[in-house]
Amino acid sequence: MRYSEMFLPTEREIPSDAELISHQLMIRAGLMRKLTGGIYSYLPLGYRVIRKFEQIVREEMNRAGAQEVFLPMVQPAELWQESGRWVHYGKELLRFRDRHDREYCLGPTHEEVITDLVRNEIKTYRQLPRNLYQIQTKFRDEIRPRFGVMRCREFGMKDAYSFDMDEAGAEISYRKMFDAYQRIFTRCGLNFRPVEADSGSIGGRYSHEFMVMADSGEDAICHCSVCDYAANLEKADIAKPVEYDAAVSTFDIEEVKTPGVRTIEEVCGFLKVAPDAVVKTLIFSADDTPVAVLIRGNQEVNEIKVKNFLGCNSLELADDAMIKKATGSPRGFVGAVGIQARVIADYSLLGMSDCIMGANREDYHLRHVKPGRDFTIADFADLRMIRESDPCPRCGGKIRFARGIEVGHVFKLGTRYSKAMKAVFLDQNGKEKIMVMGCYGIGIGRTVAAAIEQNHDADGIVWPLSLAPYAVIITPVNVREKTLCDAAEVLYCILTEQGVEVILDNRDERAGVKFKDADLIGIPYRVTVGPKQLAEGKMEIKARRSGEVAILPVSEVAPFLMDRISEKCAVR
Ligand code: ATP
Ligand code: MG
Repeated sequence: MRYSEMFLPTEREIPSDAELISHQLMIRAGLMRKLTGGIYSYLPLGYRVIRKFEQIVREEMNRAGAQEVFLPMVQPAELWQESGRWVHYGKELLRFRDRHDREYCLGPTHEEVITDLVRNEIKTYRQLPRNLYQIQTKFRDEIRPRFGVMRCREFGMKDAYSFDMDEAGAEISYRKMFDAYQRIFTRCGLNFRPVEADSGSIGGRYSHEFMVMADSGEDAICHCSVCDYAANLEKADIAKPVEYDAAVSTFDIEEVKTPGVRTIEEVCGFLKVAPDAVVKTLIFSADDTPVAVLIRGNQEVNEIKVKNFLGCNSLELADDAMIKKATGSPRGFVGAVGIQARVIADYSLLGMSDCIMGANREDYHLRHVKPGRDFTIADFADLRMIRESDPCPRCGGKIRFARGIEVGHVFKLGTRYSKAMKAVFLDQNGKEKIMVMGCYGIGIGRTVAAAIEQNHDADGIVWPLSLAPYAVIITPVNVREKTLCDAAEVLYCILTEQGVEVILDNRDERAGVKFKDADLIGIPYRVTVGPKQLAEGKMEIKARRSGEVAILPVSEVAPFLMDRISEKCAVR
């Protein structure tokens, strides 16, 4: 493409409403423009990158045996009522009515539509397993769209759905998608990690989020410094300690007056003890029943773990009335001695035999409390948030924290939708069975933005070759010199003939301006055609990423570039 004909509005200024570097660069490099809050148009350069990424996704999905479909974005309310999500999805679901007053929504995801399609068409085990995917626009009315296309309202997603006869089949489908995702993000040259994610009570054990590592990422993750264990902070398991201090206290329980002393900090200051000697008692309402969760004063409760452990539908901190009823005490002085509720404790309390806790009486705490003697712990479990330097649950190595951008998600759905929507089939014995499903998403725009977060420098974007909108930009330094133009044009024709995607920067601009734009839009190779070198029959090639420069005879330029480009393309 000749630059002079391109619709490529670049900007020098940093847009004032863009916090994230990828957002700034996507505007500055003319990849996209905002239409309205959380809704963007891709311009030609940006759309080329999107198409590049979509193509990688397509190739890998097809390779994994998934088949492409294209489902409607407008979805009838009835399907969502069947799955139960019309009520539960909340305000992210954009609902509207047609002229006949029928209700619809814009698809934020497509479980309902695909399950409806499959239940109507698949009747027997011979038609299973199947995996169907699409690359399509989703709409989610995000409460706070931000970071450009990273968290917007209208966005492209690849979503795939697998249907299997049983759990074992679903497991294989899941693995295939997991492997395809590894290949997709590797081909994009991204530094990423699949991390174990919470899938709540419906998803079974298996859910992984694919995280592109970036300090600017919204998600907190932890990973092992030794093995490849990685998980979302909320999900990260903490192994039951094998050894713990089993010193047995011989002190008698004692009540201490602690007027106005409520928080762990205040208790520690007042009684001159370390936070891990204090036990926090948190009263939760689990499906409207009070449950006391005990944890050491220096730890945080992980509500997701508590919820999963109890297997309840709803879990929230109890209100004052429930606390009063279970403990007889106001907030701040709650403890486990004499409590009217099931008591569960984090593993870190194992072996603890002398602790401080609230006395269930205003302005009092208890000292020398001995679990087992003074109150009963019904269960010990992993109920706390992981911390940096905790041992890795898999290998014992040290846990490190990091931040990431969730670009993909693979999820075992089980029979959550197939059961509600009656997606059944006849098995080998003619018996009716429910299909077992999985769903697998990749954010298209978000991945492109994440790639920029990882691949940029002070001058602009540094595209990985596999995503670059063009591989080469040819820059004659002065288009008023015919010899330079002619030489540039010949190279442009040769490369184009060979199928290389090239920009010929034929604008009548100063060389400095052209170089700045080439760097900003991040084209992997720039060929400079200047008078001095051309007089010697040479051209200069500069690699955007390494800054490496090669000055080659004109006839060797195209072969050199072809070689570089195909070599990189071969990395799969
Ligand atoms: P998040 O926790 O970031 O909101 P999610 O769990 O809602 O993501 P999924 O429903 O699993 O996301 O959607 C699959 C993929 O779609 C995500 O991994 C992400 O890459 C992308 N995605 C989700 N929401 C958005 C959004 N608002 N803007 C851009 N991409 C998104
Ligand atoms: Mg979301």
